[in-house]
Amino acid sequence: MRINALYVIIKLVERCNLKCSYCYYYTDENAEVYQRATLMPDGLLLDLIGYIREALVSAPVRRVVFGFHGGEPTLAKASRVRAFCEQARQDLEGQVEVGFALQTNGVHMSREWLSLIVEQRMGVGISIDGDRQLHDTHRVDHAGKGSYDRVRHTLDTLLPLERAGHVRVTALTVMGETFDGVAQYRHMVDTLGLNHIKLLFVDRTADMPPGAPVLDKLASDLCDMFDHWLLHDRNRVDVSLFTSTVRALLAVEHGLRGARDRITMGFALLSDGRVRIQDDFMIASDWFWSQQELNVVDTAFKDYVQQPHLQQLVHELIHVPDACQDCEFSDVCAGGEPAHRYTRARGFDNRSVYCDALMRFHRHVQTRLAAGSRALPAALPSTLEAGVA
Ligand code: SF4
Repeated sequence: MRINALYVIIKLVERCNLKCSYCYYYTDENAEVYQRATLMPDGLLLDLIGYIREALVSAPVRRVVFGFHGGEPTLAKASRVRAFCEQARQDLEGQVEVGFALQTNGVHMSREWLSLIVEQRMGVGISIDGDRQLHDTHRVDHAGKGSYDRVRHTLDTLLPLERAGHVRVTALTVMGETFDGVAQYRHMVDTLGLNHIKLLFVDRTADMPPGAPVLDKLASDLCDMFDHWLLHDRNRVDVSLFTSTVRALLAVEHGLRGARDRITMGFALLSDGRVRIQDDFMIASDWFWSQQELNVVDTAFKDYVQQPHLQQLVHELIHVPDACQDCEFSDVCAGGEPAHRYTRARGFDNRSVYCDALMRFHRHVQTRLAAGSRALPAALPSTLEAGVA
């Protein structure tokens, strides 16, 4: 097994200045978070560098990305993070490519953090759900006040830095039930000026299927947004789901699909030193909470990789689920996000809980690609062109 990229999610600050209605982290199941240190101790950050250095001896890794996460990581002093980045580069570069990323709610961004982001060329992921009304429905602070204006101010500061080539800003947007497809997409691209968008589906395992109307709406929104993107933005806006689907469909069509033996792997480091499977899998709760308890101070990366839970995940990343073997899009979709496939009865060997929407979306993109570039505008519904600047 070769690891293309190792994502280390550093829970730098285990508290948050927002209290979003759909937060997966501050839940009864994860109530122990309040017993852990608010800020990750500096000594632990140094232990992490040693842990990664040792990992590189046993596992071939091309790139390590340290992602500052929380809670809300920008509540920590930028100077502490700078010291860690410099030490990590000094100790690890030469053996592996080193990168840094910040996942923030964008509520507050100090000048010190902005300098650090530019200095270390950090990728910035910022959570925004759409326009003010939609965003402020869920993303509120502890006083119940919406955060849209504050996030927008942060974007207005970050995006000029992106245009100057210093940083890459990716919006993480949850497509909840009130997300209204093209209207929200246009707000993010035309009003906010975003160039990179990662669309997220609501956290669900296959044990919690949404109703047919929800899947139908999700599929329609994805297809409409894709058409709009294809017509107007494909050369200037990166919507990761769209670009990766187009690439994968073309690769399959031309027989270029590579082997799935180079994987991307991750783990989260908690502020008490625990090394844990990343948060995406918290919804697979009985499985997630039965993983081995490992600590960066007295265990090695190979202990993390060898635990049965991780072996199971590696299998899921390399193999398409049995339930998807007959699907015409199995090489493109591969069962969707592993966490969305989980059931208590069968583990991860299921279709995605969003299968109906994914299937429709993939078929739609395939049809558009089959139409060929010159025929595309004619193949698109005229309603999508109306009113578009
Ligand atoms: S579209 Fe559905 S059946 Fe096909 S690979 Fe994706 S989850 Fe599996």
